[in-house]
Amino acid sequence: MMEQTLIIFKPSAIERALVGKILSRFEQKGLTITGMKMMKLSEELLRQHYAHLVDRDFFPLILASMTASPVIVMVLKGVDAISVVRTMTGATNGRQAAAGTIRGDFAVSNQENIIHASSSPEDAEAEIKRFFSPDEIFDRTPILTPFIYCEQDYPKP
Ligand code: ADP
Repeated sequence: MMEQTLIIFKPSAIERALVGKILSRFEQKGLTITGMKMMKLSEELLRQHYAHLVDRDFFPLILASMTASPVIVMVLKGVDAISVVRTMTGATNGRQAAAGTIRGDFAVSNQENIIHASSSPEDAEAEIKRFFSPDEIFDRTPILTPFIYCEQDYPKP
């Protein structure tokens, strides 16, 4: 199914100047950028985004880490994009993430783990709305789509 998913390039990606390398992986894979902007995350937004972790003892670490610099938020589109991007992202802790994944190749930390990626269709929908207004999403279909997907992957509209 054609899906959109939300990515955050965390301060660990921005400050280590890894954005280009990582974005290039997504483009090479065949994912389409449909939204992208730089912003500073507020505590209020982070409390919503990490609502499942606000009671954990490491939540102050998340707040400090995610506000250490601006971030880049991005929406990527593709068939099964949510699971495709999660697979490319790897396990939460960079020390355990498989080699070849983004966290496996660029991170050695639980918190400083380079990117966030939506984990389910429900989360992706809520997260895209949290970070983007509808007029900031450009739901385009690249001209090379017939060379990225066959009819079985994604029947032509
Ligand atoms: P993921 O980012 O892989 O979806 P979670 O939703 O469980 O993982 O956690 C969100 C973020 O919170 C992680 O990416 C990481 O930055 C941070 N985090 C999770 N667990 C820990 C931990 N034990 N110690 C420090 N930071 C953590």
